[in-house]
Amino acid sequence: MAMLSACPDSKKADKLRASGRTSYDLEYLFNPWLSKARNCDPGRGPMEAIDSLIYLWIPLNGWMAQFIDSKVADVADSTLVAATGQDAALSTRFDEFMSSDDDFRRLTLQFQSFWPIFDSRFLEKQSIAPYGIQEDDSEEGGVLDRPGYRARCFSKSMGKKPPFRPRCYLDHQSSPLAKTTGGDPAEVPLTWSHTIEAIYQVRCSVFHGGKALSYSPEVARLPWLSFEILDRVWGEMYFPRAVA
Ligand SMILES: [Zn+2]
Repeated sequence: MAMLSACPDSKKADKLRASGRTSYDLEYLFNPWLSKARNCDPGRGPMEAIDSLIYLWIPLNGWMAQFIDSKVADVADSTLVAATGQDAALSTRFDEFMSSDDDFRRLTLQFQSFWPIFDSRFLEKQSIAPYGIQEDDSEEGGVLDRPGYRARCFSKSMGKKPPFRPRCYLDHQSSPLAKTTGGDPAEVPLTWSHTIEAIYQVRCSVFHGGKALSYSPEVARLPWLSFEILDRVWGEMYFPRAVA
């Protein structure tokens, strides 16, 4: 297997000081955003799913910033995400849901089948339409399947940092041909650190070009899957839903 330098599971990240409940003041600020996120209904359309992730990310961002243990004052979002991905309490909770909650496992496996999540700005620059819309090169004018879509993206010039997350996607592939075949997302270990990294890429697409996510019914599921996983693992741990 290739070097795993980009793999969050083999990288030393900044740590969260002590993941825990936020102060009362911050809870007061966060709760309205959590309520807005949880009151979204993807049945009302793809923009509603996008809203749910945006609303949830606002308190998550505040929580991460409060608990990161970094020497640098101005910490990048990707650093906050890496630290949260290595948090022991959240990782354990993720693993427990994976082994005991069929619904959570189904959603997470469905989310993993979309990996890696490509940067929307890269797709735009390379004139690649969202997955589910991008046509193949056949005369019949069909649409690229997921492996074909990945292979098309990998065939483009990608720059120094892979324009997708998990960034270690290709490192985990057993086939040396993964770049041309698209590889298999199931070969990336389904851990919390890989999952939140992929969710972060969906979040970036939502903030940088959210509308494109609503063009294809396939891709439109990504914000909602991201919201569901994030709210179960992080949201409900520190901000349990009120019991009706
Ligand atoms: Zn990895």
